[in-house]
Amino acid sequence: MQAFSTEYHSHLRALIIEPSLHYQGVFSEVLVALNFEIEIEIVCSGKDALQCLKSEAFNLIFLAMDLPDTDGSLLCAKLRALPQSMNIPIVMLNSNESEMSSQKALVSGATEVFHTSELKELTTYLDHFITYANTEEFVYGRILYIEEQHSDAIATERLLENEGYVVNHITNAEDALNVLLTAHYDLILINIMLQGKKTGYTFIREVQKLTGRYIDIPILAISPIDDIQRKLELLNSGVSDYIKKPVLDKELLARVRNFVNMRHLLDQVEHQRTEMRELAMHDQLTKLYNRYFLMDIGPKKIREAQRHDVPISFFMIDLDYFKEINDTHGHAMGDQVLKKVAITLDELCRGEDLCARFGGEEFVMILSHCDHEAAISKAELIRLAVSKVKVNDIGITASIGVATKEPNDDADFDSLFSAADKAVYKAKGTGRNRIEVEEIKKISLLNKA
Ligand code: GH3
Ligand code: MG
Ligand code: MG
Repeated sequence: MQAFSTEYHSHLRALIIEPSLHYQGVFSEVLVALNFEIEIEIVCSGKDALQCLKSEAFNLIFLAMDLPDTDGSLLCAKLRALPQSMNIPIVMLNSNESEMSSQKALVSGATEVFHTSELKELTTYLDHFITYANTEEFVYGRILYIEEQHSDAIATERLLENEGYVVNHITNAEDALNVLLTAHYDLILINIMLQGKKTGYTFIREVQKLTGRYIDIPILAISPIDDIQRKLELLNSGVSDYIKKPVLDKELLARVRNFVNMRHLLDQVEHQRTEMRELAMHDQLTKLYNRYFLMDIGPKKIREAQRHDVPISFFMIDLDYFKEINDTHGHAMGDQVLKKVAITLDELCRGEDLCARFGGEEFVMILSHCDHEAAISKAELIRLAVSKVKVNDIGITASIGVATKEPNDDADFDSLFSAADKAVYKAKGTGRNRIEVEEIKKISLLNKA
């Protein structure tokens, strides 16, 4: 990570995510030329950017389209999901001529995409941004503004832009719906009385049908009608609030600000909800799925295999003499070994497989579309890989119990689980660092008897 320090101590900080030395220089120069107190941090990869954002706060991000470890648009989507960067401008610079990549960037949440030949426009944008970013009241927000009356539109657009909002003005509802899908908006501001093929009401109904992030975009309707019945109709149709025309500047700004803030709060809540879901599903030490997730999803995977008439295999993996590692090298070292084994297991898992930490030093793998023969070679591969794991020269081995459900037997999650458990017990008894198989049919018959 390379720090580009200025002697200023301002709260305006920019993160430049750019591998090319040339463009690092270009961005820095553009920022320095603004003659404004601004601190700049430069990183070259997506990984470093995410690391940097964990510990430092920024007001603005520059992001390259191509990074050594990821695609700029993919990173942009990731940044938009992080609380530190979900509501700050992310400016992307496109050095190729592709319209497609600019569109992809906007859909991923980029605020603006500039071509490398548009440095003047970039400077104008930044100039504008810093004028507002440094005021206490500044809230960053992107507004989709639908208004067909030219003079009203110009005045309102200017009013909002002067507060630092990014405003995209569209004159009709047909285009607005398409435009809405091409970027991340925090607010829809719409004059309900549109004369085009689609009215404001139709547009609102169509927005209501959208799913995902669009569900929570607040809609602020503007209408010249001051009739209580029509107002109620509007509010019932899904509009968040209503403002009467002619609009008072101060009132409009206050409402816009409240809605954009609300939208940001909703983003944060959604992020926390996702984090909680992740926490509830994963084991904190190894980051593998935990026992609860396994017990929830495991039976579904087995039923799915049954329905589609495909084989599925179940591994119970128990580390050998693990207690000795704790006793000899300490619990912390034991944890390191568990983490490294987990990484090894995870790497050997295919996307459709499930790998979970069942308990202390026990792991479970469920392998979709994996028959008896494939299961044995996979288990052998895992046994070998674990035997190569080393933490500070401390080695480990695993005993693996294997059970397979072939399409023609009716084993369920419980019978596979107990078969694999029985097999691992057998492996312990026959010398450890080995795999043992338990025929599933016997278990099914036993269960039925
Ligand atoms: P065996 O070969 O028979 O499986 O022997 P073992 O020592 O691996 O099995 P045992 O069940 O006797 O011991 C498991 C140990 O795992 C005991 C427990 O303290 C340790 N353990 C469980 N969870 C954790 C953990 O999260 N971190 C660490 N470091 N140790 C753990
Ligand atoms: Mg055990
Ligand atoms: Mg053990």
